[in-house]
This record gives sequence, C-alpha cells and structure tokens, in this order.
Amino acid sequence: MGGLFGSIALTLSGFVLLRSAFGPAKTCDYKESRGRTCGENTICAMHVANQARCLPFATQSNAMASPFRSDVAFACTQGPLAPRGRSHSFATDAYAVDLMPSAEVAEAVVLAPLDGEVHVFDRCEERDASPGARNDSPCGAGYGNHVRIWDDMDLVLLGHLARVTVKEGARVKRGDPIGVAGVSGQAGSRHVHVVVTRLRPGDHIGTILGSVGTKGGVVTKGLFRLEKVDGVAGAVSFDELDCADKPTTWWTAAPSP
Ligand SMILES: [Zn+2]
Repeated sequence: MGGLFGSIALTLSGFVLLRSAFGPAKTCDYKESRGRTCGENTICAMHVANQARCLPFATQSNAMASPFRSDVAFACTQGPLAPRGRSHSFATDAYAVDLMPSAEVAEAVVLAPLDGEVHVFDRCEERDASPGARNDSPCGAGYGNHVRIWDDMDLVLLGHLARVTVKEGARVKRGDPIGVAGVSGQAGSRHVHVVVTRLRPGDHIGTILGSVGTKGGVVTKGLFRLEKVDGVAGAVSFDELDCADKPTTWWTAAPSP
C-alpha cells in the first residue's frame, strides 16, 4: 500500500512540476488573438473543437533545407495559424504548412530537411497519385504515410506521402530522399504537410515516436532556406510563405550557402 501511495504522490508532484514549468494552460480566444499572441513564449491554438489554449512556443534558429529538389517549384496551400476549425488551427499543428509541388512534376521526391534519425509509418494506401486527387482516410492518424525525423532538438513530421523510401531507424542527412509526395491520409490534394515540434519538459521521445502521428508538445515555427521563383534567396519562416488555397507565390530550394 505504501508503495502505491508513494507512486501516486510522485505522479502528482511530477504533474505539478510539469504544469508549473509553463503555468496553468490558460484558455484564449483564437479568433480574437488570430492565433498569434498569448503572452510570452506562448501562442493561442485550438485544443478541442470549441476551445483554444495558450501553448508553449519555440522558433527554429537554423533554417532547414527545402523538402523538394531545386528543380521542383512548390507553393504553400495552408499556412500556420489557419482560420479556426481548419486543421492548422489545432494544437501542435498550429505552425504546420502544406506544400504543394507543381502539377507539372509527375513524381515529386521528398527530401530530409535536416540531419536526424528517421521514424516511418508507411502502411496507408495511396489511392490516387494524380495532382488533383483527394483522399479522406484516417490512416496514419490522418497524416497517411509519414516520416518523422528527430535531431535531438526538433521533431519534423512530413505527411501524406505516396510512399516512403527510407527504413525505420535510419540516419539521414539533409537533402537525402525520404519518399514521394502524395495524397495518403486526410489530404484534399497532393501536398506534403510539414510540422516541427519540440518536447515539453517531462515528454519522452521514445513514447512520442512509439505512437503513430504523435509530436512534441511545444509548437515550433520552422524556417526553410528557399528562393522565390522571381525573387531573393534566404531563410524563410513558415509564416512568410504566402499560403493560400489558390497560391500565387512559388518557391524553390535556395542554392547552398
Ligand atoms: Zn496540413
């Protein structure tokens, strides 16, 4: 009995410690804040259908490599902090971006944006790989075939792949091919869903990676090294990608620095 009570006390104190590291999870008005402000180091993101909370927030300091080869133009079709109710308004996907390769590219190879260890989920059916295809399968927690890359700081998830071309546990370097873009899982059309998260204190990476589609609890704004098709090259943050259902801005990989 003493052991049982002891472990309950430990669990409770762990919970209190975890909460006190960030303060209580305050509710917030997503529409009012436009998802952007929520006090220091937090953003407002939807937690459940009708409730938003202030969540811990981080920004990447080193820009990642483009997830597509330099000869593939791509556009962002859904950006971070999307209107309430869209998938990118929800916790830990709040800073996700949907990147659509040009329809002129029949098979868009997806590249590792950073060095790290690869975790693979590839059991979803790719129902139709044509550029206008639609799919609403919950396979892979909605991310379809997806790769998560862990570099000991950032956990990057790349979802909706037609197929994955790396093996579970492999180590990749930035720019290595990891799969092909598709419409597996819940994808309105061919695109790669890219989301970066970090761990909250008390999170265990093994537990996160052991659960399909799970990410870290710290919402993280990503950076890519890109070039506007008619403009300047450099580090572009996820919220500068000019995302829209009918995109007007096209990007390619920036040349290596
Ligand atoms: Zn998405």
